[in-house]
Amino acid sequence: MIQVNQMKKSFGTLEVLKNVSFEVNKNDVVAVIGPSGSGKSTMLRSLVYLEQVNGGSIRVQDQDLVRDGVYASPQKIKEITSKMGMVFQHFNLFPHLTVKENLELAPRVVKGESAEEVQRKSAELLAKVGLSDKADHYPARLSGGQKQRVAIARALMMDPDILLFDEPTSALDPELTGEVLQVIKQLAQERMTMMVVTHEMGFAREVANKVMFMDNGEFIEAGTPDLMFTNPRFERTKAFLQKAL
Ligand code: ATP
Ligand code: MG
Repeated sequence: MIQVNQMKKSFGTLEVLKNVSFEVNKNDVVAVIGPSGSGKSTMLRSLVYLEQVNGGSIRVQDQDLVRDGVYASPQKIKEITSKMGMVFQHFNLFPHLTVKENLELAPRVVKGESAEEVQRKSAELLAKVGLSDKADHYPARLSGGQKQRVAIARALMMDPDILLFDEPTSALDPELTGEVLQVIKQLAQERMTMMVVTHEMGFAREVANKVMFMDNGEFIEAGTPDLMFTNPRFERTKAFLQKAL
């Protein structure tokens, strides 16, 4: 579903992604772990063109977003990235729109879906994340966990083929983390393809089928959770997990 080959990204002289290659297959739930500053967010943001890479290739559903450092046309980039949904650490909801309006805006404006269609979908998705009663509230009146569940529902409104999460629970108090992880877990059970940057090792172990460890701008190793958490091959992975677990 996603193939990344030798992706490189620098900010000025700072080499943030050195040589990143990996694959995400349909129905994969990939957990990305690694120390702060290792390049996890930059990697994820590059997949949806929030960052432009300096080299390498990103292929999404057999279409080249960028190939050997050369990007597709703007039209093509839009087409490719529209199949990916992203959920951020800080929710990024529109504060001046109600929950329902937050959900319905993009499909209306970007996809030109009818009012009836987006209303049907937003009702369905708010029910799915357990927030039907909050449809007309503004984000400021929601808890962090509720905001993040709205953000997930909003991402789902675009019918993505893959969902990317960047530390979806890091801004939440521990008691609110569970309700968000539960939603992601449910999506995993429905076989949604997902890539989740997370510090929640228990969640990674339970829900992911693949764990990838990033350090210093590179993926050091990847494997099944069982393998990664019980028998990592590299010292750097061991050292990180000893601190994180
Ligand atoms: P964390 O776990 O803290 O979120 P991360 O693994 O997501 O860390 P990134 O946010 O990808 O790490 O950052 C990797 C490096 O790139 C850091 O040194 C960061 O300071 C730098 N960086 C990220 N974005 C920019 C930017 N827009 N301009 C300059 N440097 C940046
Ligand atoms: Mg980050």
